Amino acid sequence: MTTNDEAAARARAVIPGGVNSPVRAFGSVGGTPVSIVSAQGARVRDVGGREYIDLVASWGPALLGHAHPDVVAAVQTAAARGLSFGASTPAETELAEHVIARLSVGDARGIERLRLVSTGTEATMTAIRLARGATGRDVIIKFAGHYHGHSDGLLAESGSGVATLGLPGSAGVPADIAALTLVLPYNDRDAVLAAFEAHPGRIAAIITEAAGANAGILAPKPGFNRFLSETAHAHGALLIVDEVLTGFRVGPAGWWGLERAAGETWTPDLLTFGKVIGGGMPLAAIGGRAEVMDLLAPLGPVYQAGTLSGNPLAVAAGIATLSLADAEVYQRVDAAASVVSSALSQALAAEGVAHVVSHAGNLFSLAFREGTVADYDDARDQESWRYPAFFHAMLDAGVSLPPSVFEAWFLTAAHDDAALERITAALPAAARAAAAA
Ligand code: PMP
Repeated sequence: MTTNDEAAARARAVIPGGVNSPVRAFGSVGGTPVSIVSAQGARVRDVGGREYIDLVASWGPALLGHAHPDVVAAVQTAAARGLSFGASTPAETELAEHVIARLSVGDARGIERLRLVSTGTEATMTAIRLARGATGRDVIIKFAGHYHGHSDGLLAESGSGVATLGLPGSAGVPADIAALTLVLPYNDRDAVLAAFEAHPGRIAAIITEAAGANAGILAPKPGFNRFLSETAHAHGALLIVDEVLTGFRVGPAGWWGLERAAGETWTPDLLTFGKVIGGGMPLAAIGGRAEVMDLLAPLGPVYQAGTLSGNPLAVAAGIATLSLADAEVYQRVDAAASVVSSALSQALAAEGVAHVVSHAGNLFSLAFREGTVADYDDARDQESWRYPAFFHAMLDAGVSLPPSVFEAWFLTAAHDDAALERITAALPAAARAAAAA
């Protein structure tokens, strides 16, 4: 049997940094990344055979827990029929119908058309191109600390790994492209109004995470998404709401559905999905009003394509996952998140460690500071150096947390009482480690 050290050394010799996505490298927490060979329910197992309770959930997709038997069976059945056809399939239509039905809350329809792609990066990239195609304008607004994938125009002051590594953006992005992205502080209405005033007739779209979840949780202030929708429309721009992370995770119709259920009436022009929609397979999507979506080729002039788009295995996993994600699943995930987030707060309070646990539905994150966290500046203004000790104390106790303080914690419907007890039992020692750091 190999150890994590051996696996990491071997990987580093052939894969940049030993990882295929930067946050996996444990760059901000130190130590050797855990190399996973299998996962089941709430648990993952490393190359050395050690089992951990998992709070990463593949960064969101595993809403039902890992390797749900019905999802695995659906993928196996699809695989036996052929891995990829490069042609239309009845199943992709079924998935689109399912998603459109889910996004119908009361008489509101969140989306009328859906196009499938393979990653969240592609989904947001396409949404931006559509917004530019629809408006004939070039400039976009994004918010500091929000992450929308790694396409050129969206990396400036980005969350996720860019935040973890403390980078302002990325090398290799042409200055002319970066100049078309205005980065504004989140939850700041005046900044949005000022941007539209400073660039009249030039802004194609505002792109926002439905609820910020990539610099820790940055929940939108009440009414902020409605304000974005109204302001964009008042200036002839579109609102793109990125639900790659929140979609089908915080509720059956995502964050938009939660706001609708709470009485909000706004509807985005375009929504992007990823993660849960593919249940762990590479699948993502762009949805929106027919009028905008039908600008996509072959109907319209905005080009977008993909050899593996609507891949039958991914679609099978998506349909199986969404079909199983009923009200009871969301109740279980919500309840599990509430148990863990309360225990986390209690453990840190008992050790006198300054902390904020921020919530957006069943997503939550930890920041080592007092007060509240409303934007990226707040998120960065914390004693983040306490996190490595906290993280490793949890890992030593067999609980795998996101290896960055800027990431949300992900519960699943498979986190049963035994899994939750393992987590809550590990928290006091981790809080002591954070206090002593
Ligand atoms: N948007 C959001 C809100 C995300 O959280 C992510 C990934 N964490 C992406 C887009 C990019 O998705 P992907 O990693 O599938 O490209």
